[in-house]
Amino acid sequence: MEQLKVGQVVKLDRGYPLVRLADGRTVRCEHATSLVKGADWRAVIGDKVEVDAPEGHDKGIIVSILPRTRAFVRKDPTERAVPQILAANFDRVFVAQPLSDVNTRRLERELVLACETGADVSVVLTKADLAEDDAHIAEVRDRVCALAGPDVEVDVVSTDDPASLEAVRAKVPEGVTAVLLGKSGVGKSSLVNMLVGEAIQETTPVREDGKGRHTTVSREMIKLPDGGLIVDMPGVRGLGLWDAGKGIETAFADIEAVAAQCKFRDCKHTNEPGCAVRAAVEAGEISEERFASYQALMQESEQVSERREEARRLRGEKASDIRAAKEARALHGAGKAGAKKRSRKRS
Ligand code: GDP
Ligand code: ZN
Repeated sequence: MEQLKVGQVVKLDRGYPLVRLADGRTVRCEHATSLVKGADWRAVIGDKVEVDAPEGHDKGIIVSILPRTRAFVRKDPTERAVPQILAANFDRVFVAQPLSDVNTRRLERELVLACETGADVSVVLTKADLAEDDAHIAEVRDRVCALAGPDVEVDVVSTDDPASLEAVRAKVPEGVTAVLLGKSGVGKSSLVNMLVGEAIQETTPVREDGKGRHTTVSREMIKLPDGGLIVDMPGVRGLGLWDAGKGIETAFADIEAVAAQCKFRDCKHTNEPGCAVRAAVEAGEISEERFASYQALMQESEQVSERREEARRLRGEKASDIRAAKEARALHGAGKAGAKKRSRKRS
C-alpha cells in the first residue's frame, strides 16, 4: 500500500466526502471496499481518516476511519436500524434557540443530547433584536440560565450587533471544533456568516407558516478567521431522546450530586422522606423549572426503555420465556439459563 495520509472530512454532501489533508490540500474520496463491506459506518463530518491519495489522482480512497472522540448519534428507539453517526470529533456544542421564542421542552432535550456527547455545551439565544426591551432579554436569559444549570453558559446574540458575537467567537478558538445544534430557522447560518464575516452559508427565510425550508443537505466544516472550525447541523429532527440516561445524568449533574444525599437510594424525589433534592428546590438552590425538566426527562427516558424492552420482546422471545430464563438464572445461575435458551433455539 502506498503511504497513507491522515486527513479530516470537512464536507459531506450527496457526492464523495471531501477530506482535508494535513498539508491543506483537499481531496474527494471514495470509501475502500473493505470499509463498505464491513457495514461499519461511513465517514461523517469531522471524522479523522486515513487516506490513500496518490499524487496525480483526482480521487483518494478512505482506507480507515480513526476512533472518534465524540459523536452525535441518531438512535432508533426500537434498535431496528444501526445507529447513525451525524458528526464526530467536536469539542463544543452550541445549542441555538431564538430569544423571544424559546421552546423549553425542545431546549431541555437539546441540552441532554449535547451533554451526552461529553463536549462543552453552551446556549446561544439568537435574534435578540426581536425582544421587546432589555428587561425582556434579561428575563429570558435568567430563565434559560436557571434551566440549563451551572455548567452551561448562555450567550445572547443578534446579527445587527456584531459585538454580541464576541462571546460566541471566544468559545471557538484555533484548534477547537464546534457544532451548532438547533431547529431550522433559529439563525444558525446567519450566526456562522457573521462569525466568518461573509455570506458562506445560505440563510433560509422563514416561511409565513413558521416552517423552515431545507435548502441544503450538505454539511460543511467552516474555518473561522483566526479561530477554530464550526459545523452547522441542520434538521436534527431525528435526534431522539432514546436511552439518554447518561445524557440526563450529565446535563443535570448538579441535581444528581444532590440526589446522592437523598435518604433512599432509589428516591424518585416525589414525596419520599429525607429527599435532598426537594429540599434543595424548596431552598431555591435548584430552580423549580430545572427540577421539573429533570423529572419529566427521567420519566420519558424510563418509558422509552420500557417500550424498547417491549419491542425486543415482540421481536424475539416471549415475555414468559424471558421471565422463565430470569427465574432460572436466579435459581440456578446464569450458565443453566443460557443452556436453556440455546436448546430452545435449536428446536
Ligand atoms: P438557520 O436555518 O438556523 O440556519 O437560520 P437562518 O440563519 O437561515 O435564519 C433564519 C431567518 O432568521 C432568516 O430570515 C434570517 O435573516 C433571520 N435571522 C437570523 N438571525 C437574525 C437576527 O439576529 N435577527 C433577526 N431579526 N433575524 C434574524
Ligand atoms: Zn430524593
